[in-house]
Amino acid sequence: MAKGGKKTEKRLKGSLYKTEGENIERLRKICPKCGDGVFMADHGDRLACGKCGYTEFKKGS
Ligand SMILES: [Zn+2]
Repeated sequence: MAKGGKKTEKRLKGSLYKTEGENIERLRKICPKCGDGVFMADHGDRLACGKCGYTEFKKGS
């Protein structure tokens, strides 16, 4: 178990980085009309696509 300890640590660091990037991307929703690569702008209570004008209201309080 001790042999793989270092390797696991390195992998954890790598996955931490990846998770961080994924979280950032998750904050920006992709426009369902334009598809991949087109993110929607955050306007507080709603998200709007600057390309096609699609607006989506945020749910929740
Ligand atoms: Zn769009």
